[in-house]
Amino acid sequence: MKRSQLFLPTIKDMPAEAEIISHQLMLRAGLIRRVAAGVYSYLPLGHRVIQKVSQIIREEMNRAGGQELLLPALQPAELWQESGRWEVMGKEMMRLKDRHARDFCLGPTHEEVITDLVRRDIRSYRQLPLTLYQIQTKFRDEIRPRFGLMRGREFIMKDAYSFDRDDTGAEVSYRKMYDAYGAIFSRCGLRYSAVEAESGAIGGSYSQEFMVLADSGEDAVAVCDACRYAANVERAEIAADPGSQPSGLPKSLGRVETPGKMTVEAVAGYLGVPRQTIVKTLLYEVDGQVLAVLVRGDRQVNEAKLAKHLQAGGLRFADRATIERVTGGPEGFSGPIGLRSVPLWADQELRGMRNVVVGANAADAHYVNANNERDFSVDRYLDVRMVSEDDPCARCGKPLRIVRGIEVGHVFKVGTKYSESMDATYLDANGAEHPVVMGCYGIGVGRTAAAAIEQHHDAEGIIWPLPIAPLQVMVVPVNVTDNRCWEAAQSIHDTLEACGIEVLLDDRDERPGVKFKDADLIGLPLRVTIGKALAQGQVELMARRVRRTTMVQLEEVGPRLRQIISTGEHAFPELFAS
Ligand code: ATP
Ligand code: MG
Repeated sequence: MKRSQLFLPTIKDMPAEAEIISHQLMLRAGLIRRVAAGVYSYLPLGHRVIQKVSQIIREEMNRAGGQELLLPALQPAELWQESGRWEVMGKEMMRLKDRHARDFCLGPTHEEVITDLVRRDIRSYRQLPLTLYQIQTKFRDEIRPRFGLMRGREFIMKDAYSFDRDDTGAEVSYRKMYDAYGAIFSRCGLRYSAVEAESGAIGGSYSQEFMVLADSGEDAVAVCDACRYAANVERAEIAADPGSQPSGLPKSLGRVETPGKMTVEAVAGYLGVPRQTIVKTLLYEVDGQVLAVLVRGDRQVNEAKLAKHLQAGGLRFADRATIERVTGGPEGFSGPIGLRSVPLWADQELRGMRNVVVGANAADAHYVNANNERDFSVDRYLDVRMVSEDDPCARCGKPLRIVRGIEVGHVFKVGTKYSESMDATYLDANGAEHPVVMGCYGIGVGRTAAAAIEQHHDAEGIIWPLPIAPLQVMVVPVNVTDNRCWEAAQSIHDTLEACGIEVLLDDRDERPGVKFKDADLIGLPLRVTIGKALAQGQVELMARRVRRTTMVQLEEVGPRLRQIISTGEHAFPELFAS
């Protein structure tokens, strides 16, 4: 492939719209272009990367017994109404009507469509187990589409679904997918870890996320180095906490003016008290009911845990009008004192709290020295907060670390949630009917490519891991107007292509510096430079990752590169080890 003919528009300067490195580099290296918020075109190189990642996924899915199919993006509302998710999906679902005013959506995921398929065509236990997958475009109207392919509104996902006779079978299918995911992410060159996760809107009993650890990750993961417990902070358990013993005597309740101080920081600063002595009162609405939740000022409520305690999905912050109606005061000044009309829940560590600061349910006022049982009464203490770095591991008591991660894959044990609501059953050997037991497994294809760039880049540009590089070798003649140099470059290009190596020949009449800069930005893992040493019949071979070079005889270039590509970087420490 010749650089001059390839549609590969590179950008020198940092694009202002891109906040994280993979997004910047995908734009600069001509992989993608934005069409609308969260909607992208894949240019030829970007498309090649997507194809490479997809092919690795395909090979591992097939190896694990999966069968590829393709389901429609356009889906009728009826299927979603049957499962009960037409409402649950809320605004994230892209909805539309056809010419007869019938409701449709652009599929955010495919549990409904695939369950419908299986319930029609699976009758007997002999047809199970079955694992089906596809690599297909999904649509989700994300609140904050950002970071390029990381969080798009239209994105490519591999989604797989397993169907089994019983839980034991489902466990086997889940394991196979879990192992396949490990193989996929390793082959993509990613350092990842599998962590316990919340199941969210997909539902089900247990799920794990494959996280690529990177500072730019949108997820936070609690990790215990001692016992290897790792969980998304949305999920991470906190050891049962009896709460601190009340310390000191209750002081008398006082009301203080806190003009305009609506946040914990502002109140703490204004009153000159630590944030831990402030108790936040948050009002939530669930199915038309209001609930007040208390947590320490320096903590965050974990809404996933709260939703689980409530056994409800549609949890949201109460709006301003509701807060005023329920508390009698404006937003930002809510507190438990006098709040009798709604249930009052508190995080378990607040048991025994004494002499705390709370909102006064009135504009610009707080109470100091508020005490439970004397001034208000908590209905339930439970674990409702987000884990933090000063919490001990819930499993072994050793310290936890909180690290950032990018969720590239998610595996779920779904059980019979969809087969029961949508009536997908089979007959066992005795003719008795049972619901099929399901698992669901997703991988973000574009997000995986972006995560690879987050882990593999330097100040100059991308450093593609060989297996997902858009092309494998960059051939750079330093001077195309020199006949010998140009002919050698062309012959190397042709030889490599003939042996199935993916080559990009920079045939442009540009200064060597310009070409090298461009090559660094695009990040093909191997580079052949044809320069002065050609007089001795030699060219330079370089590994982009560590910039180590070695001189090779012209006729050795083909065999050498073929060897590297077929064996992998690890087999050539002299070129690749840093
Ligand atoms: P997130 O918490 O990041 O929104 P999710 O839990 O909604 O992810 P799943 O429904 O489990 O994601 O989807 C499976 C996979 O699809 C995810 O692991 C991720 O790799 C990818 N994915 C999900 N949403 C997006 C998106 N908006 N853009 C790109 N990839 C996505
Ligand atoms: Mg999501």
